[in-house]
Amino acid sequence: MEIEPDELEILRKPDRIIEVSLPVLMDDGRIKVFTGYRVQYNNIRGPYKGGIRFHPQVNLDEVKTLAFWMTIKCAVADIPYGGGKGGVAVDVKKLSKGELERLTRAYTRGLADFIGPSKDVPAPDVYTNPQTMAWIMDEYSHIKGENTPAVVTGKPVEIGGSLGRDTATSLGGFYVFEQVLEKMKLPKNKISLAIQGFGNVGLNFALIAYAAGYKIAAVSDSRGAIYDQQGLNIEEVLSHKQTTGSVIDFNGLKNITNEQLLELPVDILAPAALEAVINQTNAGRIKAKIILELGNGPTTAEAEIKLNKKAVLIVPDVLANAGGVIVSYFEWVQNLRHYYWEQAKVEANLEKQITNAFKKVWQTMEAQNNNCNLRTAAYMVAVERLVKALKVRGI
Ligand code: NAD
Repeated sequence: MEIEPDELEILRKPDRIIEVSLPVLMDDGRIKVFTGYRVQYNNIRGPYKGGIRFHPQVNLDEVKTLAFWMTIKCAVADIPYGGGKGGVAVDVKKLSKGELERLTRAYTRGLADFIGPSKDVPAPDVYTNPQTMAWIMDEYSHIKGENTPAVVTGKPVEIGGSLGRDTATSLGGFYVFEQVLEKMKLPKNKISLAIQGFGNVGLNFALIAYAAGYKIAAVSDSRGAIYDQQGLNIEEVLSHKQTTGSVIDFNGLKNITNEQLLELPVDILAPAALEAVINQTNAGRIKAKIILELGNGPTTAEAEIKLNKKAVLIVPDVLANAGGVIVSYFEWVQNLRHYYWEQAKVEANLEKQITNAFKKVWQTMEAQNNNCNLRTAAYMVAVERLVKALKVRGI
């Protein structure tokens, strides 16, 4: 790409890093202080946008990386947002609902001066959900003295959430998945999938693909994985998870580990949990022909080099999971206009937006005579859009 080194230099660093200490009154009367972050990477194309993660492994480096990916993702999806991300280092499984609410409200107060509908719009990520967004929206609205639903997306529909937001990331991933199969000329009845992660993204993707008639041979959550070469009944796995708290120990099947799931003899691997699960150690043993990155950053750079050599097609996160932020954008638009769409309209617009993104990325890859992979092509599309916006705006 013909880019000035100075222009690239601007994209190399986040605009702003915020770290907040969050004292929370615990149920036993003690005070515990948590650390929260928000990284506002870049707002050249619009307000900062990105999820909030509550996970013990959250650290500034991870949040910065995720914020950078959001910048790229919003540009690939061609929606008028920059990129940001937030997180709190916490094990939510060890908190009561009350403690979680007080932590979320403390985090919102810490960030209140920096977020807002035209400044920075958070959303759910790992171990945060519509309820978390409702608390943020409520706390922020109290601070500002006015009802402000557009400060976050991924809210419950009762308070301004969009229909279809809960399944948007997975449905967007599914649209991309079907486009890829068409390009690769892979027939539906000849392929099998393994999905890692059974949360918002992994579960909904599994349900959508299962309902569409695809064979899902393996699924997993943080406690382990299950595998059935003949294909799993995902609806039954879901009700098993709802009763027992996990997908493991299902219907007499042997449990396998999350690591084993990644190395199964399946055609498509869809990691939908945490980062760096496909790495230098296991890349050589991956058997899938296609990796659909539903989660953020599941493949390390070293692993990607090895997989490229084996001609594995990696559909990058910044494209494959952009459906979530696309419908977040629709939610924000609806909040700002106070006018709400039917689910069919949300889904039709999502399909159009993500299919256009896919086509642009695929064409960019082909225009390089297949000398670059899909991730590089997606980055080329994004960086070109960012640099164009930067040029017209000036510094
Ligand atoms: P979630 O909290 O709803 O689900 C996470 C899932 O991962 C759970 O099933 C959990 O059991 C599992 N998990 C946790 N630790 C694990 C481990 N060590 N090994 C295997 N599985 C483990 O989160 P989510 O919203 O589904 O997010 C999943 C991924 O998708 C993340 O990378 C997130 O950044 C990305 N993402 C989410 C959205 C969204 O709209 N929610 C949008 C874009 C990208």
